[in-house]
Amino acid sequence: MRAKKFFSQKNAQKFGGENSAPYICTRNKVVIITNMDDVKIYQHLADCGIKPSVQRIAIMRYLMEHRTHPNAETIYNELVKTIPTLSKTTVYNTLKLLAGQNAALMLTIDERNAHFDGDTTPHAHFLCKECGTVYDIPAHEVLTNASPCVPGTFQTDTIDLYFRGRCPKCNKKN
Ligand SMILES: [Zn+2]
Ligand SMILES: [Zn+2]
Repeated sequence: MRAKKFFSQKNAQKFGGENSAPYICTRNKVVIITNMDDVKIYQHLADCGIKPSVQRIAIMRYLMEHRTHPNAETIYNELVKTIPTLSKTTVYNTLKLLAGQNAALMLTIDERNAHFDGDTTPHAHFLCKECGTVYDIPAHEVLTNASPCVPGTFQTDTIDLYFRGRCPKCNKKN
């Protein structure tokens, strides 16, 4: 397990050796990781050059578990229920950090509100202007075909492809 190297051997012995639950050592405290998903999230953050903390893991986990492209407000409102010490500033700063390090995507599809996505694999998005839902559109083909539009001397790292309109649900209503 690759994540293992982040766990301190010395403290592992203190906590009952190799077989004890994995945990994170931050500067002042030890946080026991209660499930393997957290190990994956911990590794994902570390791979993106982000120092994992309890709050960063919680925000990243929320994004991975909720593929609804939530905004900062929603994430704060949901997480503050279990982390009462969480501040809005921490949520905003963490989201900015996650997006800056490519651990998550920041979508600017909706000019009133930034949306966040824990899925960083290439895909396009569709914003329904009626209900405000941001949908995932599997668009590998479109993305691949779009890249030759850029002159060969430019190096493309990311392509953001946004569609806006009405979703099938809202279309049916009218
Ligand atoms: Zn809709
Ligand atoms: Zn998405």
